[in-house]
Amino acid sequence: MAEQTPMMKQYLEIKAKHQDAFLFFRLGDFYELFHEDAIKAAQELEITLTGRGKGEDRIPMCGVPHHSADSYMTRLIEKGYKIAICEQVEDPAVAKGVVKREVVRILTPGTVVEKGMIQEKENHFITSITQFPDQTIGFIRTDLSTGENEVTLLGDDPQEIIQELTSSKARELVVSADFSSDKLTKIKEALTITISYEEDESELTEYKHLVHSLEQKKLQTTFWRMCQYLVRTQKRSLNHLQAVHYYPANSYLKIDRHSKRNLELTETLRDKKKQGALIGVLDQTVTAMGGRMLKKWVEQPLLNQTIIEQRLDTVHVFIKHYFEREELRDELKQVYDLERLVGRIAYGNVNARELIQLKRSLMKIPVVQALLKEMDAELEAHFFKGHTTYESLIEKLEASIIEDPPVSVKDGGIIKSGFHQELDIYRDASVNGKRWIAELEQKERQVTGIKTLKVGYNKVFGYYIEVTKANVASLPEGRYERKQTLTNAERYITPELKEKEAMILGAEEKMVELEYQLFSSIREEAKQYVEPIQKLAKSISELDVLLGFATIAENKHYIRPLFSSKKHVSIIGGRHPVVETVIPKGDYVANDVKLETEREMLLITGPNMAGKSTYMRQLALIVVMAQIGCYVPAEEAELPIFDQIFTRIGAADDLASGQSTFMVEMLETQYALTKATQNSLILLDEIGRGTSTYDGIALAQAIIEYIHDEVKAKTLFSTHYHELTSLSDHLKNLQNVHVSATEDQGHVVFLHKVIEGQADRSYGIYVAELAQMPRPVTERAEKLLVELEQGMKHIPVAATVEPDQIASDIEKISRPKTKPSNDEVEFIHEEPEQLSLFKEMDVLEERSPLSKKEKQLVKKIKELDILHLTPFEAMQKVYEWQKSLK
Ligand code: ADP
Repeated sequence: MAEQTPMMKQYLEIKAKHQDAFLFFRLGDFYELFHEDAIKAAQELEITLTGRGKGEDRIPMCGVPHHSADSYMTRLIEKGYKIAICEQVEDPAVAKGVVKREVVRILTPGTVVEKGMIQEKENHFITSITQFPDQTIGFIRTDLSTGENEVTLLGDDPQEIIQELTSSKARELVVSADFSSDKLTKIKEALTITISYEEDESELTEYKHLVHSLEQKKLQTTFWRMCQYLVRTQKRSLNHLQAVHYYPANSYLKIDRHSKRNLELTETLRDKKKQGALIGVLDQTVTAMGGRMLKKWVEQPLLNQTIIEQRLDTVHVFIKHYFEREELRDELKQVYDLERLVGRIAYGNVNARELIQLKRSLMKIPVVQALLKEMDAELEAHFFKGHTTYESLIEKLEASIIEDPPVSVKDGGIIKSGFHQELDIYRDASVNGKRWIAELEQKERQVTGIKTLKVGYNKVFGYYIEVTKANVASLPEGRYERKQTLTNAERYITPELKEKEAMILGAEEKMVELEYQLFSSIREEAKQYVEPIQKLAKSISELDVLLGFATIAENKHYIRPLFSSKKHVSIIGGRHPVVETVIPKGDYVANDVKLETEREMLLITGPNMAGKSTYMRQLALIVVMAQIGCYVPAEEAELPIFDQIFTRIGAADDLASGQSTFMVEMLETQYALTKATQNSLILLDEIGRGTSTYDGIALAQAIIEYIHDEVKAKTLFSTHYHELTSLSDHLKNLQNVHVSATEDQGHVVFLHKVIEGQADRSYGIYVAELAQMPRPVTERAEKLLVELEQGMKHIPVAATVEPDQIASDIEKISRPKTKPSNDEVEFIHEEPEQLSLFKEMDVLEERSPLSKKEKQLVKKIKELDILHLTPFEAMQKVYEWQKSLK
C-alpha cells in the first residue's frame, strides 16, 4: 500500500474521533467524503461515487459543493444520521503544509436549528436519559431552537420512557454507554430514533445558573449529560438555554402512545396529517409559538384543576370581549417567532432582518398589554407581571438598523445614517466620490465633443473612461492614459479618476468593516435580553392559544366544562369535535353520556357504521379538551378529572409492525387493565373480534367482569356480540346502550342516536334482510341464532369472579387443543360445535363418501378467512353454498 498523503492522514485522524457521523471534509469549494462514508452517502444522496488514487490504493470518494451542501445535509439528518462538519480553519494561501482543519459543529437530528430542518409550529426536542442506582430514570428534553429545558424522573418501566419520548416527538436520545441494553432495544423497537452516547455528566460552571431551581441531584445530573453533549457537538455559545424546568411526570393526564394515535390528537392515523386530527380543529393560533404551545398542551392535558380553571376563566373573558379579542389577535399576527429569534441571538447567527422582526414584535407588546388591561386588569397582570420593558432595546434597534436590511450581515447596507459618526464620514466620502464620477462623464463629453463617451466600472480595472474606436481620433492628445483595448472601444484612466476611485473603494471597504463591527456589537447587546424575551414568548404563546380557544368556542358553540367532585360524567348533547366539522353542517347527531354510580360502564351495541366508535372517541376528546382548559362541544358537560385514558379502538395498521392485530388488541387491553385506576377512562372497541366467536365472547366477558370488579374505571365497551348484553343483569355497574338504526325503503339508515337498553335484534341478520337475502336463508339464520343463544345461556355469569380464576380461564380457553377437564368444559361452553367444526369435518371426510361438490364446499369452508368477514359477507357465503348444494 502506498503511503498516506498528509491530507489523508489528517482526514483519518479526524474521522477516528467521529465514527458515528458522516465527516464532511472541506476541500476548497467542496465537502468531500471518503471511504465508507463516501459509499454510504453516495447511496443515500444518490450522488456519484468517484475515487482518489489508483489501483488498489484507490479510495472511494464523493463530494457536494459547499454552497449547496445544506440540502444534502438536510436529507441525511432527516434519515436520522449525524454529520461532522470539518472546515479549513486557516487561510490556504498562508498555510505551511496541509491546511489546518477542525470539526466546527456536529449536526445531529435532535440538535439542528436551521429553518428548513425543523417545523415552525412544533418543538424540536433532543432527549436524554440517565439511569440511577435506585432504579429511577432522569429524563430531559431540550429544544435548542428555543432554549427550553424540561426534566423529570421516571420509573423503571421502559414504557414510561417510550411514552415521554413519543409525546416529545424526540428525534434523538442521548444515553451513556452502560445504559441498559434491554431497555434500549425496547425503545428502538417502538420508535424511530437516533441514539447518541455521552459519558460525561460532570458539571459545567458556565451553565450552573440553569440548575439552581432543581433540588434533586439526580435531575441536575440528567441535565449535565445533555449539556455536555450539546457543548461537545455544537461547539458554540449556548447561552440561550433556559433555566431547567422540572415537571412531575405524573402531573399530566396520561395517554399512552397507542391511545394518542388512536384518538388522533395531533395527527391522523392514516396519513399523519394535522387536518382531521383534534389539533386541526383547535389550532386557531396566529403565531408559530402559539402553535407549538398548543401542541404541547394537547399532548399533555393537566390534572391540576386550579390551572385548568384559570385557563377556562381566561377563555371566558375572551369570549365576552369579541372586539378586543379580534384586535388582540390582529396584533399578535404581527409578532414574529420570539423564541426562535432569541435562540438565534444567543447562537450568534441572528441577522439584521431578524433584529428588525424582533423590534417590530417588541413594539407590539405595549399594545397587547393595553388591550388586555381594557378587558380585565387582573388578566393583564397574570400574563405580564414582573416582565421587563424593552424600550431601550427598541430604541437601540430603531436608531441603528435600517427598516429593510439585507440578509447578509457582512456586506454592509445595514446601519442607519446618523448612528455612527465615523461611518457617516466614510459614507459621505463614498457618495461624494460617486457623484464626482457621475459628473465626470458630462464634463468629458463636453470637453472632447464625443457624445458616446462613458464612464464605467469593473472589478479588475476599476473606474475607466470608454471611447468607441471611431471616436478615438478626436480625443485630444495626452488627455487620458490608455488602460485596455476592446474590439470596438478603448478604455482610459486619468490620475484624478484613480484618486477618486481609491477614495471610494477605501471608504467602502472601511464602511463594510465598520458596519459589521457595529452590527456585531448590537447583536451582543441584544443577548442581555435573551431571558426576559423567552419569558415574554411564553406569555404570548399562552395568550395566543387561549384566544384561539375562545374563537373556536364561539364559532363552534362549545361550552365551558364543569368539574365535579362526585366523579361522574354527565354530558348532554355531546359532539365529536372533528367529525362534526367534516360532515354536512347540521347532520351531526348529538349524544348524551352518563357515567355515574351504578353506571360506571356502558356496553354499546349497534351495527357497523352506526357510530359506536365515534361515540367513544367523542367522550375521550371532550375529556382531553376539558383538561387542557378548552371549552367543549356539548350543551352541558360535567366531568371528573381523569388521570389516564386507555383506548383500544380498532385499526389494522399495526400489521405493519409485524404483530398480529389480535395480539396488539390483547397487548393494549392488558396495558389498560393493569395500569388503569378508578379515576381512569377506558374505551374498548370490539374487543375479541380478532379471534373466533366463542374465544372472543369469552374474552370480552372476562374483561368486562374484571374491569367491573377490580379496576372500576369508567369504561365504554362497544361490541357486536349481542350475547354480552345480558351481562347487565348481573353486573350492577354495567348498563346497556345501543346506537339505533332503522330501515327506509330497503336501506339501512343509521340514526347515530345512542339510546338506553340493548339493541332488540341481531344486526347481521337484519342487514342481510335489508340486502334482500333469500327469505329461506334469513329465516334459517334466525332459527340458528335462537339455538345458539340458548346454548350461550350456559356461559357462567360470574359477578364476582376472582381475577386469578379469570386469568387461568382465559389461558385455558386460548389453549383449545388440551383436553378440557370437566369444570372447564362447563366454563367454555356446553356446546363445542363451532370450536371443533373443522375437526368434525375432517372426520366427516374420512367416514362418509362425499360428493365432489360437497368436498369442494368443505374445502372452501376450510379455507375461509373468517376473521376478515363481516356478518353480511358471511351470510352471503352461506347463501352461495346452500344454493350450490340444491
Ligand atoms: P361504528 O364504530 O359503529 O362502526 P363509526 O363510529 O365508525 O361506526 O361511524 C361511522 C360513520 O358514521 C362515521 O364516519 C361518521 O361519518 C358517521 N357518524 C358517526 N356518529 C355520528 C353522529 N353522531 N352523527 C352523524 N354522523 C355520525
